[in-house]
Amino acid sequence: MTPNTPDNSAARAGLSSEKSSCEERRQKIRLSGIAEESVVDGPGIRSVFFVQGCPHGCHGCHNPHTHAFDGGYEANVDDLAVLVKGNPLISGVTFSGGEPLCQAAPLAVLARKIKETGLEIALYTGYTWEGLLAENDKDRLELLRLCDVLVDGRFVEDKRNLALVFRGSSNQRILDVQRSLRSQSAVMVTDPAWLDDHPEESQVGVYQTR
Ligand code: SF4
Repeated sequence: MTPNTPDNSAARAGLSSEKSSCEERRQKIRLSGIAEESVVDGPGIRSVFFVQGCPHGCHGCHNPHTHAFDGGYEANVDDLAVLVKGNPLISGVTFSGGEPLCQAAPLAVLARKIKETGLEIALYTGYTWEGLLAENDKDRLELLRLCDVLVDGRFVEDKRNLALVFRGSSNQRILDVQRSLRSQSAVMVTDPAWLDDHPEESQVGVYQTR
């Protein structure tokens, strides 16, 4: 090194350690629970990851224990991917909560691994599609691009309807994420498996959140 050459080694070391701690954070998801084989959080048999932490505070929420951001437990993304890949019975995976979009970065890492299996990915959020597009958050959009179905909007007790399938209140919509992204507007799913034709199933399930 010449006398005029700045010594950047400390800065480089700092950047490298920041990068590795950022990558570590993307490998950890805080969960409140897992249902390995659920029939109430989307059509077919699905693995459901209930994310810990929710800022929405919907009145009448069925899962208040998922609200605290420091509750639940930390799970490793690779372990969750192995759980999904090792289950031949499931036809899809659902991210529920809590609010999955509060942990969008690690969930995107998990979703990318699940995508390799061809399983359908659905996500429940208390945010609306329009709000998410307007917000334009990089991590959240990355996760949405990996999803097939989005059930959007907070649970509204006055609009609660037990006849609805896979959602709790009538303001919530079941959206086709890929078509919505292409058209930059909310497009409802057309897959009959997601539509309101099995009212008896909407009543079942300990972990149904919305
Ligand atoms: S219903 Fe869902 S979005 Fe609303 S407070 Fe409960 S967990 Fe959060």
